[in-house]
Amino acid sequence: MGETQDIDNRYVIWLDIDNTLYSASSKISQAMGQRIHAYFVSMGWSEEEASELHSKYYKEYGLALRGLVRHHQVDPLDFDSKCDGSLPLEDMIKEDPGLRKLLQDIDLNKARVWALTNAYRTHAQRVLRILGIDDLIEGLVYCDYSLPNFACKPEPEFYHNAIQRAGISDPSRCFFVDDSRGNVVAAHQLGWGNCVHFCERGLDTVEGGRQKKIGDDQATIPSGIKVITRLEELRSIWQDIFKQQ
Ligand SMILES: [Mg+2]
Repeated sequence: MGETQDIDNRYVIWLDIDNTLYSASSKISQAMGQRIHAYFVSMGWSEEEASELHSKYYKEYGLALRGLVRHHQVDPLDFDSKCDGSLPLEDMIKEDPGLRKLLQDIDLNKARVWALTNAYRTHAQRVLRILGIDDLIEGLVYCDYSLPNFACKPEPEFYHNAIQRAGISDPSRCFFVDDSRGNVVAAHQLGWGNCVHFCERGLDTVEGGRQKKIGDDQATIPSGIKVITRLEELRSIWQDIFKQQ
């Protein structure tokens, strides 16, 4: 198989959005979890059945909605408007000058900055706008809920699409940070070069509708993946792609 020559040979930095670019302390995952639960209940399941299925689909597919579409023909855009679309995000997160400075200090001669999310485009763009960093993101790879069989993290197809979108062929040129351990491990297994697990150890979050303490699962992380508790730590572990002071 011949290597294709990339037109732009800069690195690509991939930033997850939810619970990565803002802290889990915003409690957005809790509010999302409640809405998704209500959506399951509105489809006729009992509270217990709704919790079970929500958790099962999240574990199986990385995204509850993926299971709802696959097994119950749910309209993903209806789901999105009732779940993510109804979140009062403006009251939960705000402009983040520190994050903005962090991204501005990346050397654009060396790297391009993209976002990579399991949310739909509207939610992703809204979060980036509220945080005040939308102009610093070159491209957005999101879950395209308008496609009948959309892919999501941690499916390999999602990562393959992403690097194709960014116009690169060598996964080792990717830098990636995500709060989901599974998403980071999947990228690492596909040869993404610099994977970082953002882990706000001790904070509460909701995953698949279940309350959990971040970092409590004690799962080991493959060597080669760095773990950080603050995004500022990227300045030292990704030193080469930041402007030299
Ligand atoms: Mg996330």
